Amino acid sequence: MSDSVERASERTVVNLRAPGVEGRVTLSLKRDATTLSVNTVPSFTFDLKGRLIGGFNAGRTYRRTLDHRVVEKVGETRDGGRIRRRRELPPDEKRALVETAYGLARRVEAARQAGTLDVLDSSVPAAVWQPLAEAALPRIAAVDNAALEADAQAFLAVYEPIGILPPDQYRALVLQATQGCSYNKCTFCSFYRGRAFRIKTLPQFQAHIEAVKAFHGPALPVYRSIFLGEANALIAPQRLLVPMLDAVNAAFELVPPDLSGEARARWRAAHPAALDGVYAFVSALDALRKTADEVADLKARGLRRVYIGLESGDEDLLRFLNKPNTAAQALEAVQTLKAGEVAVGVVVMLGVGGARYADQHVRHTTDIVNAMRLDMDDLLYFSEYVDQPGTEYDLRATEAAIGALSAAEMQAQRAALQAGLTFAGPPPKVAVYDIREFAY
Ligand code: SF4
Repeated sequence: MSDSVERASERTVVNLRAPGVEGRVTLSLKRDATTLSVNTVPSFTFDLKGRLIGGFNAGRTYRRTLDHRVVEKVGETRDGGRIRRRRELPPDEKRALVETAYGLARRVEAARQAGTLDVLDSSVPAAVWQPLAEAALPRIAAVDNAALEADAQAFLAVYEPIGILPPDQYRALVLQATQGCSYNKCTFCSFYRGRAFRIKTLPQFQAHIEAVKAFHGPALPVYRSIFLGEANALIAPQRLLVPMLDAVNAAFELVPPDLSGEARARWRAAHPAALDGVYAFVSALDALRKTADEVADLKARGLRRVYIGLESGDEDLLRFLNKPNTAAQALEAVQTLKAGEVAVGVVVMLGVGGARYADQHVRHTTDIVNAMRLDMDDLLYFSEYVDQPGTEYDLRATEAAIGALSAAEMQAQRAALQAGLTFAGPPPKVAVYDIREFAY
């Protein structure tokens, strides 16, 4: 069965019994992924290339990255509150998890081929689900740990390490128009340390797009949007950025940028494979190098939202963090972006500067965010400072005798910040940006 098999846009669910598997097997076939579970748990999800994406077992969730690491997350109650413990599985545990997931897939596929699957119930007739299963299961069953390791090597040949994405973009297809961070001197940040910054030429970027498409092959439907990497893709001059976005549009179907509300939702439903638009990080100083008209030109080519690390509205604290811009410049940058009708995602840090800066951080950040006039298309992220021993922040904070705020104190800081926010109309979505959750 070819990749062109039309998969139901809704989830197609079949409950089965398969020889060699104890319990009810649920096969869930979606447009972009396949999930196999036994009595609900364990549950494993694979993309259309057959690669394990993630799973759930014994109260633990697993997320596999494209460079073939597996991150385990487990919720725990500690000191009266819920925390999430994360760890990367060591090689032997990773292999065991992979073998469990693919062992299940192989048994179900063997039974399908032998005609010994016992169908308990199904959301659709056999004539619908069987071709879908025939397209998905052999591909999954053909994968093993060695194949995943080879795929990881192919990934590393196409991509530089992907430092971080905003949480709403974890399902984005990253295209590295630039690599690294052009500034790389914020004291708290180590995402791109030791990596050279460069802007790709248009031919290099076009070749990268082709390599990314070839790498993912049938798995591309798992992605929802395009994220133009990395720390500050909009630093590329307009004369390069415009053809880069044209190249993205030539390679992928994007939702038309002039649609919104119900019209957008209707178009989206009729084009389930289309990507949601283009997203990117931008630094305040580089956003300020664009005019509102230039931003509008990028929007016309699919740029939908850019993410800007405000961190704080307090100028003293920004200097302590060694940010390259002032809070006033961040405000002006947001105004320029919004004048060009591109939405923003503003990131505010919690806990930076400890108790020493806490009052002024809350007061001035509230003022700046209010002045940004964020609306329902925008996002406001609160990102707890995560202690990274050995960073310059850590050294400066130790020198200045600034201690870390506790988790409860950071949450109190968030509450104080939010209490002061006022929005003229429907407010932006406010969400948590936990950098420890990122896995790509
Ligand atoms: S916070 Fe942003 S601008 Fe600062 S070093 Fe990190 S990636 Fe670069």
